[in-house]
Amino acid sequence: MDIRIIGAGVSGLSAGCYLQMSGFKTVIFERHASPGGLCTSWKKGSYTFESGFQWLLGSGPANPFYNLWTELLDMKSIPFVTHESRMDIEVSDNADPTGDKVFHLYTNLNKLSDYLRGISPEDKPQIDKLLRSMRQIQRFEIPPMIKKVPKLLPLKEKIKYIRYLPLLWFLNKLKKETNFSFASKLKSPFLREAFELLFDGEELPLMIVTMPLAYNDLNAAGYPVGGATRFVNRLKEKYLSLGGQIRYNSPVNKIRVQNNRASGLLLEDGEEITSDIVLSAADWHYTVFDALDGKYVNKTILGLGKEEKLKVYYSLFIVSLGINRSFEDESHFLRFPLDKDLVSPDGTSYPRLEAHIYDYDPTLAPSDKTVVSVSFYTLNAAFWIKLRKTDKAGYDFAKTRFAEEVIEALEKKYGRIKEFIEEVDIATPATFFRYTNNWKGSAQGWLPGKNLIEQSPVEFTLPGLKNFYYSGHWSIPGGGLPVTIKSARDVSQIICKDTGQKFGADQH
Ligand SMILES: Cc1cc2nc3c(=O)[nH]c(=O)nc-3n(C[C@H](O)[C@H](O)[C@H](O)COP(=O)(O)OP(=O)(O)OC[C@H]3O[C@@H](n4cnc5c(N)ncnc54)[C@H](O)[C@@H]3O)c2cc1C
Repeated sequence: MDIRIIGAGVSGLSAGCYLQMSGFKTVIFERHASPGGLCTSWKKGSYTFESGFQWLLGSGPANPFYNLWTELLDMKSIPFVTHESRMDIEVSDNADPTGDKVFHLYTNLNKLSDYLRGISPEDKPQIDKLLRSMRQIQRFEIPPMIKKVPKLLPLKEKIKYIRYLPLLWFLNKLKKETNFSFASKLKSPFLREAFELLFDGEELPLMIVTMPLAYNDLNAAGYPVGGATRFVNRLKEKYLSLGGQIRYNSPVNKIRVQNNRASGLLLEDGEEITSDIVLSAADWHYTVFDALDGKYVNKTILGLGKEEKLKVYYSLFIVSLGINRSFEDESHFLRFPLDKDLVSPDGTSYPRLEAHIYDYDPTLAPSDKTVVSVSFYTLNAAFWIKLRKTDKAGYDFAKTRFAEEVIEALEKKYGRIKEFIEEVDIATPATFFRYTNNWKGSAQGWLPGKNLIEQSPVEFTLPGLKNFYYSGHWSIPGGGLPVTIKSARDVSQIICKDTGQKFGADQH
């Protein structure tokens, strides 16, 4: 049976692998000239610039996602880096008892606990509670659950999952604590400010950071040396070795439908492709409203994206620099305050900069040279997308001017930057949109905000349409790579069930 897949991002490649393993004949149609989608990097001169890949949940056996990655990748052959500190935050108004203004979010939980208690003994009860919650995350045993698709479980199997109710209850409780609510309980002004700045001044559930930290401590949320391209290439090789095919530079215009059954694809160049089943692993909004003309929707789908329901994740403006010098003794990830806010041409004001020094990955730059990047999160991707479309010269001017201000700010902070810059690369939300087609240039699908909803709002199928399936980072709010592989695996199991095939990964 033929399955045509739209998109060679991590989800499309993973689904392709699982479906090939299950006996289907798949071809992936990718609009771009290389695989990876948002999980990518690009070369300029002797430097490789990362789109931002920082950590992979499940990089080690202590996290259940490891069991999924190992089905597709030889994880033992990938060197992962776990940083001593996940991030360092320079606060503006306070300092720790030694006078240091930089807060370190250590990844070793014992070290973190000693550090926090050392700064503020009177906050011991709150600090211990925080650490206890991370230890509890580490203890939860969930491996079998990660491989199941709840809707496919028979009732007697579902009942067995009652043992996981304490986990759900615990996560539900945890989710309610935000960085702001936690900070408000602290007595130390330094810690209070640091926790408020965990998400660059935004209020978000604290578990967005405590969950990865819990697994950093167990070496299970590391950065893969070689970055995104090397990681994705391993997945691509696996897919090709299973007999899959990728057609690059093949943007899909429409999903063809006959009698409410998906029957193939119409490419932008007019070529028509027939298929027994269509799986879209491309942007969700494009899939539903462009490729299928919004014909297969319901009230929930029409409500998505409305601000009060679920917000679309931030897009990014990233300035990447190839610098002919080393940065010994500097934090690999420092957020620091600026004397004066930087105001992006899209209107977003930034009181802080986030500098990422990639000297821990020797594959990205020649020795003694360094890749440094600065990322700005924005909810106004529309500004950049429209400007690029309507006024390319104005767009180039705006992004270059802003990048120059960023370089000035780095010069002020670190010194010896400007004269050593060999390469500059500027990616805007329009770049992310142009290369990956993600709605509003989103970096991770939906934002897991305070309005986080339990059930995934994006289903694996669409109402009224047969032979069509969907997977990708829009499937679960928060997105990211764990969601891409989980949704790919789940949808492949559903396709197997619907077509009477045995799910291949279970037989390996
Ligand atoms: C700066 C940044 C940093 C990140 N850091 C991390 C991190 O550290 N850890 C983590 O887990 N996640 C991270 N993420 C998120 C993660 O990269 C994404 O969630 C994930 O890669 C999304 O994969 P996907 O396959 O669902 O979608 P995509 O990557 O969007 O892939 C979709 C693919 O479909 C193709 N496509 C779209 N439309 C069409 C069409 N019409 N025809 C043909 N092809 C089409 C696109 O070109 C693309 O290749 C980061 C994202 C960004 C932007």
